Amino acid sequence: MLTIAIQNKGRLNEDTVALLADAGISASASHRKLISDAKGFPLHVLYLRDDDIPQAVAMGVADIGIVGLNEVMEKGCEVEIMMSLGFGACRLSLAVPKAVDYPGVEWFNGKRVATSYPKILKDFFKENNITASVHEIAGSVEVAPAVGMADAIFDIVSSGGTLIQNGLREEDTVIESEAVLIATPGLDEDKAAALDKLMFRFKSTLESRGMKYVLMNLPKQKVKDAVAILPGMKSPTILPLANPEWVSLHVVLHEDILWEKIEQLKNIGAEDILVLALENLIK
Ligand code: ATP
Ligand code: MG
Repeated sequence: MLTIAIQNKGRLNEDTVALLADAGISASASHRKLISDAKGFPLHVLYLRDDDIPQAVAMGVADIGIVGLNEVMEKGCEVEIMMSLGFGACRLSLAVPKAVDYPGVEWFNGKRVATSYPKILKDFFKENNITASVHEIAGSVEVAPAVGMADAIFDIVSSGGTLIQNGLREEDTVIESEAVLIATPGLDEDKAAALDKLMFRFKSTLESRGMKYVLMNLPKQKVKDAVAILPGMKSPTILPLANPEWVSLHVVLHEDILWEKIEQLKNIGAEDILVLALENLIK
């Protein structure tokens, strides 16, 4: 049976448990447990701090794990990155006090930079021929310049609000991160097959997120126009109605383009438009 390591609490826990749930797998969200069995898929769930997940997977303590790409890169463990999971988006960026006149990354020569990601930062400085001193601190990195512990910081940014609150300005993004599924390299055949099944569920789940099932009535002679409005679809489903002049058109649309497409379809005569939630899109 596969063992998956997930974050026991913190930012990724809820979205991870939700992804599993959408894939038909119920795992307790409880961080009081260390390990539990999931329902709906043969899976042991190991609850760890995110820092420990790359190593647990590299060692084979867990076969797979869900963790931020930032942690995978920082730990430098030998794991395979199987797929991105579409949540936990953030970036690791260099930020300087807002009064600094920043000419470019060469500014960092001779500076002290506080971070919780020393490996990624040192690699970046090396690639860019910067000699700076990297100070590793575990938390509240953003206050380091204000208290005189550092000249600048290298930290996780998502909205950028924390930087602004601390009088800092983001200058260079070093990596973009999101939650990823990782695996121990060289899983045996049975585990690899189980992982394939799990990834199939995750992919279907992620693809169906944000999708809506749309039904409408349309004058029969407008079908060609409707197909032109709905590009990229193999073909919408067209069903006859009791009135031979009309058809029922069914289509799956992403919510980002839903209203724009509905307006266009209304303009060519679509009526009685129903928008339904879509549970799963299995290709
Ligand atoms: P743990 O107790 O498990 O070590 P943590 O405090 O190190 O948790 P969290 O703050 O829970 O970590 O963040 C977990 C991950 O969430 C990060 O490593 C990153 O991949 C992602 N993330 C997304 N947005 C943010 C953000 N704004 N701040 C911090 N992490 C973020
Ligand atoms: Mg952590």
